[in-house]
Amino acid sequence: MKKRKVLIIGGGIAGLSAGSYLVRNGYDTEIFEAHTRPGGVCTSWKRGDYIFDYCIHWLVGTSSGTGYDCVWRELGMLEDEQGKTNSNSQNDHSGENN
Ligand SMILES: Cc1cc2nc3c(=O)[nH]c(=O)nc-3n(C[C@H](O)[C@H](O)[C@H](O)COP(=O)(O)OP(=O)(O)OC[C@H]3O[C@@H](n4cnc5c(N)ncnc54)[C@H](O)[C@@H]3O)c2cc1C
Repeated sequence: MKKRKVLIIGGGIAGLSAGSYLVRNGYDTEIFEAHTRPGGVCTSWKRGDYIFDYCIHWLVGTSSGTGYDCVWRELGMLEDEQGKTNSNSQNDHSGENN
């Protein structure tokens, strides 16, 4: 069967997350980003010895077991208690909110 392809416009956290889940669920995926680097408004930059963090000061989903917490861990953005990320899951979180 022909692999389905999904085109994503924008490589912010939403586009990157969607792309990650799509690839893990077998879709051929391409992300189009207008900027020179991915991340959208969730970005940082270095100037001299300083790192300017434009985002995040408050992360939704740090409580273990909540919907967002599962997503962050699946995407490899949060470590577990042993300092490991779990970015191999193929769970479908559609419809979950938290
Ligand atoms: C200063 C600041 C602090 C924040 N703090 C927090 C926080 O503490 N906690 C929290 O949960 N959230 C926070 N947020 C909000 C959070 O960062 C955003 O909600 C989230 O990053 C938005 O992601 P997004 O992918 O939806 O959109 P965006 O990050 O806006 O990404 C959209 C991407 O699409 C690209 N794009 C747009 N049009 C096109 C096009 N036609 N073709 C190709 N590419 C295109 C853009 O260049 C961009 O990279 C903060 C936001 C800001 C600005």
